[in-house]
Amino acid sequence: MLLAEEREAVCDYARRMVADGLVVGTSGNVSARAGELVAVTPTGVDYDTLTPGDIPVVDLAGSTVDGSLRPTSELPMHLAVYGKAEDPDGHEIGAVVHTHSVHATAVSTVAAEVPPIHYLVALIGPSVRVAPYATYGTGELAASMLSALEGRRGCLLGNHGTVTYGATLHDAYHRASQLEWLCQVWLAARAAGEPRLLPRPEIEHVVDKLRGYGQK
Ligand code: 13P
Ligand code: ZN
Repeated sequence: MLLAEEREAVCDYARRMVADGLVVGTSGNVSARAGELVAVTPTGVDYDTLTPGDIPVVDLAGSTVDGSLRPTSELPMHLAVYGKAEDPDGHEIGAVVHTHSVHATAVSTVAAEVPPIHYLVALIGPSVRVAPYATYGTGELAASMLSALEGRRGCLLGNHGTVTYGATLHDAYHRASQLEWLCQVWLAARAAGEPRLLPRPEIEHVVDKLRGYGQK
């Protein structure tokens, strides 16, 4: 089967999005790239019944090359991210995750950026922008997202949700989870008082420091 590994990973992470509460029902979508091809969730299909054979495979122009189901309505967004060629560190982009996670979506309705409340903002970049709203599934939304992603590994989509990417689905998904957590922290802090924010140079410092984080 074409892109067997990527299709299986797309199924696994789509199900995980529901299990972890990052989406409800058929909301959100996930893709993984191998070379010139992309395995992506189908539009409007419950993730719990998905099998790797159900996962459409498309080329970078969006034409289906394998699978009988229609790809996600947000294919323009996914292909726009892969069209970026590389991430801020010059690594290839291998996966994209789009969620409607509750706290991140709430923040996308009230802020122009995710406030620098915690150093882990740096997992996305020196700031996390909110892309101005456009209708789901449109080229306008893909363009709005692409501007917000400039120099960043993710963004919020105004009044809609989140987009994150990475070298692997593991990385893209990790960023989606951490972005949701950050937004939850900000909303909780703001309900309790006036949160102290971190200065931009400190976030930039942590962007650098995170390059050496974890086991080598
Ligand atoms: P799809 O079912 O087409 O992937 O749409 C879900 C979504 O989140 C649209 O923004
Ligand atoms: Zn969506």
